[in-house]
Amino acid sequence: MSLHGKTALVTGSTSGIGLGIALSLANAGANVILNGFGDAAAVVADVEAAAGKDGGKVGHHPADVSDPAQIADMVAYGEREFGGIDILVNNAGIQHVSPVEDFPVERWDSIIAINLSSVFHSTRLCLPGMRNKGWGRIVNIASVHGLVGSTGKAAYVAAKHGVIGLTKVVGLETATSNVTCNAICPGWVLTPLVQQQIDARGAADGDLEKARHDLLAEKQPSLEFVTPPQLGELVLFLCSEAGSQVRGAAWNIDGGWLAQ
Ligand code: NAD
Repeated sequence: MSLHGKTALVTGSTSGIGLGIALSLANAGANVILNGFGDAAAVVADVEAAAGKDGGKVGHHPADVSDPAQIADMVAYGEREFGGIDILVNNAGIQHVSPVEDFPVERWDSIIAINLSSVFHSTRLCLPGMRNKGWGRIVNIASVHGLVGSTGKAAYVAAKHGVIGLTKVVGLETATSNVTCNAICPGWVLTPLVQQQIDARGAADGDLEKARHDLLAEKQPSLEFVTPPQLGELVLFLCSEAGSQVRGAAWNIDGGWLAQ
């Protein structure tokens, strides 16, 4: 499938899942706007390499997506430098693990702002351009935690359930157009976000291999991690004509987590 001529914005794409999705989109010919913290120049070079010499243009915008004004600036950058955003992948997210009665209020506020409110802001800002062009794809990277709970993750689970609710509403509001909105719900993916949780589990006895195995065994029957390239391929499917009647869905890709 070729996405030549389309422009994709992937929030939180300097690492992990977002980077994997950005690489898939670039490889399929799309222009890609990266976003996120860290060494942007190195990530831009990697995504340009995936695009190849006849591929699309790659840029980076440093917006902190907890700030609606910075999201607006990033969308304006996409309109100015790329002629608008056709594919919006809302991926930026953070985690904090703590029982609800000890959950730090500022961590709650950050998780709701980054994992949920940013999805509302980027959607409301990108949708008019997609409607004007008569085509668009919004893919929200939610989580199995948008569909089921786990202890210690009050803010994350609340935010991800919210993302799935928002996805349904936007899926309905765009149902008669060529714009679709869907959520992808990954199980465990081995990224820095999950490595922190493995490190925390292994801190007691220093056995990280056991911590990694136990983390999978508790929830993910395949005992294998989902990978960023697999998630990138699912995003490409949702961008394809074959995916055009998938609307308002919450599509789990989770090694069997939700089948239990
Ligand atoms: P990660 O920590 O590897 O990457 C997070 C990215 O978001 C980074 O590029 C980071 O710079 C960026 N980011 C963080 N805060 C930001 C902010 N305020 N503004 C802009 N960018 C910001 O994490 P990941 O595991 O790749 O997670 C990506 C998404 O996938 C998240 O929404 C996460 O909830 C979701 N997810 C992850 C897993 C998993 O097992 N790793 C499972 C299900 C869902």
